[in-house]
Amino acid sequence: MSKHAAIVGAGIMGLLTARELISLGWRVTVYEKYSEMEYRNSTSFAAGGMLAPFSELESADELIFKLGLSSIDLWREICDELPSPIFFKTNGTLFLSHQRDKPHFENATRRIFQYGKESEVQWVKVSDLEPELGDSFEQGLYLPKEGHIDNRQLIPLLASRLEGEGVRILYGESVLDLRPYVVETAKGSLLYDIVIDCRGIGAVEDTADLRGVRGEAFLIHAPEVNIQRPVRLMHPRYAVYIVPRANDHYYIGATSIESASESPVTIRSSLELLSAAYSVHKGFGEASIVEILHGIRPAFRNNAPKISFEAGLVSINGLYRHGFLLSPVLARAFKNFLQDFPVEHGDQIFSFIRG
Ligand SMILES: Cc1cc2nc3c(=O)[nH]c(=O)nc-3n(C[C@H](O)[C@H](O)[C@H](O)COP(=O)(O)OP(=O)(O)OC[C@H]3O[C@@H](n4cnc5c(N)ncnc54)[C@H](O)[C@@H]3O)c2cc1C
Repeated sequence: MSKHAAIVGAGIMGLLTARELISLGWRVTVYEKYSEMEYRNSTSFAAGGMLAPFSELESADELIFKLGLSSIDLWREICDELPSPIFFKTNGTLFLSHQRDKPHFENATRRIFQYGKESEVQWVKVSDLEPELGDSFEQGLYLPKEGHIDNRQLIPLLASRLEGEGVRILYGESVLDLRPYVVETAKGSLLYDIVIDCRGIGAVEDTADLRGVRGEAFLIHAPEVNIQRPVRLMHPRYAVYIVPRANDHYYIGATSIESASESPVTIRSSLELLSAAYSVHKGFGEASIVEILHGIRPAFRNNAPKISFEAGLVSINGLYRHGFLLSPVLARAFKNFLQDFPVEHGDQIFSFIRG
């Protein structure tokens, strides 16, 4: 009989791990604490969906860049399997700054030039790429190899595609305790061949060094704006990005606050994000706010992800601000790892990616 895995958490990491496991012939049960109605409260739904290994060099290190480079190809593979097309674009990112912030801009983008090849990091005339921004910005930095995906469209489709392939997703089933081979819910304990912890910040109490970094964002409808690709505005105090979605919708994000607070979005964050967006394009002044989002990014001290493995229990966590960039690569790495070290031989604790 095929082996049976329990995955705890149906965020993007849990879902893509399920996808890899079924390709190995495993049976998979996913536990998700939120009901299907509340599921959109998960951090994975709050994300901007940017697949931006070059842009992230502004604050992330080389490991994230190298892991993230292969993500666009993997996303293409994942999207091709979905039952209907979703909003997934690979037309790059544009970095901008207002004239007064140029010194900060040069500082913030230095590492992008260090790692990117000439064809991957290009100075452009903004009006050539984004005509509606040409009056306010003359020159920008274009990163043609980056992409973006509408995560809010993607996740329900991916979940239902996995269900169609036989994955059981138990919504509204909070896991009270997990240990090697065992998952415990209010209904009792169940045994599995392996338990995979993908709880994100939900694992904070039993994961050493895990912390929450709160992010806030807005989903808006702006029919007077026509921007084709993610635009990042560099600012010394906060960085704002504008990510296009289908049907004149835009995602404006995001704050980064060292806190795991689930409280509503503050006036300060709203003013910063929305006024920065308005400074990029005056058409945002007439936009309507569709949804105000917040989520808690799960992060380790070094802001890098970690996969820890012991017999019967694996944890994949710490995706921080790179959950969509890195989850396909981490899920694939986990699958390869499992093929090399079958669970019955997993009698040591491994930590890989970076221990
Ligand atoms: C504002 C914002 C913008 C972002 N933008 C981007 C971006 O543009 N690109 C990018 O790559 N990343 C981005 N991120 C980061 C990305 O969202 C996270 O890295 C990612 O969501 C982490 O995925 P995860 O599956 O590990 O955790 P989560 O998304 O948090 O999923 C964990 C799941 O586990 C469930 N769970 C928790 N505890 C239990 C339990 N006891 N029992 C059962 N279920 C449980 C939760 O309900 C949740 O559904 C952003 C994050 C934020 C907040």
